[in-house]
Amino acid sequence: MKDRFRAIMVRNDGGTTRAGLEELSLPDLMDGDVVVAVSHSTVNYKDGLAVTGRAPVVRKFPMIPGIDLAGTVETSSNPKFKPGDKVLINGYGLSENHFGGYSEFARVNADWLVPLPAAFSPAEAMAIGTAGYTAMLCVLALEDAHVTPDKGPVVVTGAAGGVGSVAVALLARLGYRVVASTGRPEEEAYLKGLGAAEIIPRTELSGAAKPLAKERWAGAVDTVGSSTLANVIASLSYGGAVAACGLAGGMDLPASVAPFILRGVSLLGIESVYMPMTRRLQAWQRLARDLDVKALAAMTQMISLKDVPKAAEDILAGRIRGRLVVEIGP
Ligand code: NDP
Repeated sequence: MKDRFRAIMVRNDGGTTRAGLEELSLPDLMDGDVVVAVSHSTVNYKDGLAVTGRAPVVRKFPMIPGIDLAGTVETSSNPKFKPGDKVLINGYGLSENHFGGYSEFARVNADWLVPLPAAFSPAEAMAIGTAGYTAMLCVLALEDAHVTPDKGPVVVTGAAGGVGSVAVALLARLGYRVVASTGRPEEEAYLKGLGAAEIIPRTELSGAAKPLAKERWAGAVDTVGSSTLANVIASLSYGGAVAACGLAGGMDLPASVAPFILRGVSLLGIESVYMPMTRRLQAWQRLARDLDVKALAAMTQMISLKDVPKAAEDILAGRIRGRLVVEIGP
């Protein structure tokens, strides 16, 4: 193990957040029973918020951001893991109150570790990352709500983003007719390549929502929130459901109860950070079965640790298509 290693550290100086590369050594890391040599991480929307300080994701300063990591166990005092095991973590407070994945080494709790599925390399697992794992949680929630492909089309909002791209690929592979809502018409070929049957402009769903609109979708994955989610709810067909996981368009929900009480629709809240381990393992098993690795490759770009601060700005500005993987270790 190296004596000194690189990490991105976020510091708060008098209310101003600054992120930069620093050199650390193992005693600088937080407590935990497993040390992981991190080979890859990723940039999710929430990482953008943490690195730029645009929203209070980081609860303790200084902080190593990065809500996801993948790598190899270096040392473990917990019998569940041994040196050489390939592992990943999504969430569990990384980058909020525990040092996260933008570091060559991470000391973490064994209870947070998911064994790397055999279907994926560490880089592929981070191409999925919290965004892709959350997309799978959305699909599982729709399945639990009996939204099956024969019931009608499903809409994915924020489709060209990380959660959206993986949701489009998963739902299309599972046989759903996927309608992709995007603010980037130039990404039509990309989204159709992932399996979208139809592309609609984001503006079709972003105005003030009527209490009830024409029934259009049996199901939906919404990453945008606000009036977009309100419009999706108003246009769900009888008995339909929307898995709501995001706030890229805002945190409010200017909606009516009409679709709930007149059409029996369901609003399914999706939370990934503290999702119990059994559901995580189920999500990762289903990703291994249902996600086409060629589609995953088509949505992924590789960057290095020093590129993370710029990528954080870009993802918040909606300039990132699909997923970013951060190459960290050997
Ligand atoms: P991305 O930035 O990759 O994707 C978000 C997409 O939303 C953009 O690509 C864009 O899609 C669309 N969008 C951005 N701004 C607006 C806007 N003002 N109005 C309408 N659409 C907009 O982020 P992620 O995929 O990483 O995350 C998506 C959302 O899901 C975030 O809000 C994130 O916080 C949330 N999330 C929640 C989780 C949970 O546990 N609940 C876990 C993971 C993510 P397009 O260009 O196609 O229109």
